[in-house]
Amino acid sequence: MAGRFFLTTPIYYVNDAPHLGTAYSTVNADALARWHRLIGDDTWFLTGTDEHGLKMARAAQDQGVTPIEWVDKMSRRYLEAWSGLEISNDDFIRTTEPRHIEAVQRFMQAIYDNGYMHKGLYEGWYCVSCEAYYPESDLIGGNLCPLHERPVEWLTEENWFFELSRFEQPLLEWYEKHEDAIFPASRRNEALGIIKGGLQDISITRTSIDWGIPVPWDSAHVVYVWYDALINYITAIGYGEDPGRFADWWPSVHHLLGKDIIRFHCVWWPAMCLAAGIEPPAHFIVHGWLLVGGEKMSKTKLNQIDPVELAPDGGVDALRYHLVREVTLGADGDFTYEGLIARYNADLANNLGNLLARVAAVVASKCGGIGPAPRAAGPDVRLSEVAAEVVTAWREAWSGFAGHEALEATWRLVRAANGELEAAEPWKLEPGEAVEAVLGDALEALRIVAVLVSPVMPSAAGELWRRIGLAGRPDEPASGGEAGDLRWGVYPGGRSVTKGEPLFPRRAGEH
Ligand SMILES: [Zn+2]
Repeated sequence: MAGRFFLTTPIYYVNDAPHLGTAYSTVNADALARWHRLIGDDTWFLTGTDEHGLKMARAAQDQGVTPIEWVDKMSRRYLEAWSGLEISNDDFIRTTEPRHIEAVQRFMQAIYDNGYMHKGLYEGWYCVSCEAYYPESDLIGGNLCPLHERPVEWLTEENWFFELSRFEQPLLEWYEKHEDAIFPASRRNEALGIIKGGLQDISITRTSIDWGIPVPWDSAHVVYVWYDALINYITAIGYGEDPGRFADWWPSVHHLLGKDIIRFHCVWWPAMCLAAGIEPPAHFIVHGWLLVGGEKMSKTKLNQIDPVELAPDGGVDALRYHLVREVTLGADGDFTYEGLIARYNADLANNLGNLLARVAAVVASKCGGIGPAPRAAGPDVRLSEVAAEVVTAWREAWSGFAGHEALEATWRLVRAANGELEAAEPWKLEPGEAVEAVLGDALEALRIVAVLVSPVMPSAAGELWRRIGLAGRPDEPASGGEAGDLRWGVYPGGRSVTKGEPLFPRRAGEH
């Protein structure tokens, strides 16, 4: 039965160019969203950009432009990068849009009216790059930001404070009732640890800058950039503006985020929701860091690598495949270009690409280029048995946010299909029933593989679909037609099979 699936990525701070780390989050989110659409879920996939704060204001000043001119330009890089990576987001939110400014002001006013804001003096060590205060004990050598290793500044401000300290108990009770709220479970313990360690009220407005959203009851203040950013998740579904739409999508949301922003997402944000009188978000999917030679894909390092540039000539699908296949979602992963090429050659060029090339070649030489239909499923048709088992594993894997396992399962079918061809050697047989049986089964395996890989490799899946002579697309939800149907025996036969150029040409290891 179809359900609803609302998925978000963090919104990316526009001062940093899109890089492999943000591509990792976004591609994994995209594959999940595409999988949910494929199984017929009503899906809403949201990403966007975070555009306020001192750092943006200063960057614009350095460039001699207004802040809005600067963020317009910077935000476009994300739209371009995600378009290049075939990201299928349904909405792209920018925190400088009127809809967001209005939603933030409504939300803030609700918290104020509910009595969870007070005015107070704030002073502390502030890193402009992080847009965050740090306790002295966290600083390197007493004056460097632990993330940027750059000097912090001492700021004193009279600010509005959000009374986070009052939410220790409510948050613990909420997590008690929502045991599966955080995936993986180890991250739940981390969030609970932060809450149990004691929560301080947080300074959430600034008077030192005006590049931000004005506080509705005190216009000398703007909202602190992090606080405003989190609210994007409800702006996009009509908070305070379209109650029907909001009720359709909230609170059953899935927030995908990196482990370094657990405090903001799993502690601040649910407390903010409780304070404003709405349910906290239902689910957090916390991924690890993508490491490059053991180093975090951080905001300041390696941010010059345009992720699209890393895609081998086989297309961005190969990069998307690697980003989902290489790392277990939730764990840290290592990225190397050599690893990307090695996996591309092994899985895509030598396995899947080779399977298609072989089948198409034998269909051309033995069947006049017309693909035969598969045999009926049964114990004597080994591929039909493997396919059924693989489809079940694939479904379970995606339901559990384990895209890498879904691909692993899919490749069992690819290998089995290659194995059947090698055992039967149809290229050595005379044209006839035996040849047609082997090729029909192999074509059906390829059809099913095209559907199975479509959330991760939408273009390659579409091309595979076309080459075996099918109409439409493999990633259309199953609705009685050819598309998206994972049952054995759907390939109709009688279709022209095209060999064409290799789907995934082999690549040398150099970049
Ligand atoms: Zn910093």
